Amino acid sequence: MKNTDSDDVMVYRLGSGCDLADIEEGNIYQGKVQGFANFGMFVQINDRIKGLVHKTNMKAEHKERDSILVRVRQIRPNGNIDLEEVQIQVYQVTNVERKSTTVRISDLSGKVGRTVAIEGEIAQVKQTSGPTIFTIVDETGTQNAAAFIEAGVRAYPEAELGNMVKVIGEVMMRNGQLQIEVDALTILNDEEATAVRVRIEKALDLRAEPAEIPLLVKSDVMEKLCPEMRKVAKIIRKAIFTSQPIILRHHADADGICSAVAIEQAVVALIKESGGDFDADYFLFKRAPSKAPFYEIEDITRDLDFALKDHARYGQKMPLVLLTDNGSTEEDEPAYKIASVYDIDFVVIDHHHPDGTIDKYLKAHVNPYHVGGDFGITAGMLGTEVARLINPKVESIIRHLPAVAGVGDRSEAPERALFLDLVRDQYPEAACKDIALALDYEQFWLRFNDGREIVKDILNITGNTARHQKLVSLLVDGANTMIEDQMNACMPHVVPRVLRNEAHLFLIDVEIHAHKFTFPPPGKTSGEVHDRLCKQNAGQPVVTIGFGPDFAVLRSRGVLMNIPRMVRELRNEIPGGGISGGGHLVVGSIKFVEGMRDVVLEALISKIADAQIQK
Ligand code: MN
Repeated sequence: MKNTDSDDVMVYRLGSGCDLADIEEGNIYQGKVQGFANFGMFVQINDRIKGLVHKTNMKAEHKERDSILVRVRQIRPNGNIDLEEVQIQVYQVTNVERKSTTVRISDLSGKVGRTVAIEGEIAQVKQTSGPTIFTIVDETGTQNAAAFIEAGVRAYPEAELGNMVKVIGEVMMRNGQLQIEVDALTILNDEEATAVRVRIEKALDLRAEPAEIPLLVKSDVMEKLCPEMRKVAKIIRKAIFTSQPIILRHHADADGICSAVAIEQAVVALIKESGGDFDADYFLFKRAPSKAPFYEIEDITRDLDFALKDHARYGQKMPLVLLTDNGSTEEDEPAYKIASVYDIDFVVIDHHHPDGTIDKYLKAHVNPYHVGGDFGITAGMLGTEVARLINPKVESIIRHLPAVAGVGDRSEAPERALFLDLVRDQYPEAACKDIALALDYEQFWLRFNDGREIVKDILNITGNTARHQKLVSLLVDGANTMIEDQMNACMPHVVPRVLRNEAHLFLIDVEIHAHKFTFPPPGKTSGEVHDRLCKQNAGQPVVTIGFGPDFAVLRSRGVLMNIPRMVRELRNEIPGGGISGGGHLVVGSIKFVEGMRDVVLEALISKIADAQIQK
């Protein structure tokens, strides 16, 4: 067939593996008739590309599998190709090799206006009132690709969340963001998909590896926790790079908030950096306080409800759930059990005394008790270090959070002083104390809301220091006024006792001698009472029990208790007590049924009287 006459018409033979980007309008290609419709016939140009010859553009009768020459009249925006049949006798054939090698997503910014191919996993499919938006993830980034058939109609319905696909289209700027206008989207066959998946997985694994950076302070315990903190950071980085939503749940106190906000800053900045939607930092990341000091059934039910709806409505992946200052005790187990039905991944950063039974539900668990430390290393300290591993760039705006957390949680570990030293110039201890109180007070009014932006001002993350100071001092005044009111009401009703181990025990019925449903709530009220009693009994071992009809809150100083163990023992010793609870070794709470209150409290006091006194 080869002819050396240079005037001959050029006919192209499209190699296998070639795709839309390798075809040019106006060129003539070899093809094969694939099938017929009322309006014309379909012609295959290679194994993956076919076009339509409208009946008005047919020149002869054909049957299936006939060889035929076609000219490309037009490639439509949706990837459909209009062909016309041509009949020529003498021509020259040129092979077309696949030229559209795939481009990495991170390289797209230099390709605006060009047609490119990318390969990756569909991480989200969102149907808008206009196009269908596919979020594609490869080893270098996240990219939205808009496919349009008809307003509000799902394009490429065969392509689903998790499919490995090849997308060909033009790189555009839309509202200041890169977007690919899809010409063609094909699901890779098993072999191709596996190859791409392996390539992406390998590269992502490397990319998710946290930076090698030293801790903010010198701490043996935290040094030992580094491998597990790196593991948590890596899991979170990977979730971000693959557009997996992240739910961050935390204890609703100053320590829990500091821990969660540090991680929030790291995650949000990294989500913004890695592309995708302009508001991805809002719908791919949610922070929410847990009212109870554990992950309640109410919390998981709410999280699951939202996650499943987002999955159904917006084609989102199921989330990674991160718990901080929460999550390491058996009280969390009922929630984990529910989550495991949906294979939800959990990671925990906590400093509560851990129960071994829950690790089977967790992908990673940072806890100072695992390496011989204790609750003095607070969640805020650990969360800030993990945040730096997730995204070192946020360090300057979060490095004071461990000091606030340490003060807020009354840490007595040497790390508290080290973290305070780190920021002493800008945030002396008194300032940290004010910020911690402001957080507690504001969270009371926020209730179940995270207050993402307000909390940033309280922690001076926004950088508007004048507003930060104004807000904190206002909140501190408000909190102190309400605390004073509460103390004036309840201090006269404190009942003292001296136990046989010479511990000074103080009892306060917060149900009848304190304002209810206001700030400070019973736990903090008992803490404030305890602080005042410690001052009045300087140098003495002090235990304070604030109780209501069906609960008691314990605070202690200088008495070596193990509250979680005492709670477990009471549960076995008092049948019908309805006992549960826990917390830290020397700060915790216990619940029981109202009718058994006196029995439970007396048994509890007897255990405290058996505890050793710290010399
Ligand atoms: Mn804490």
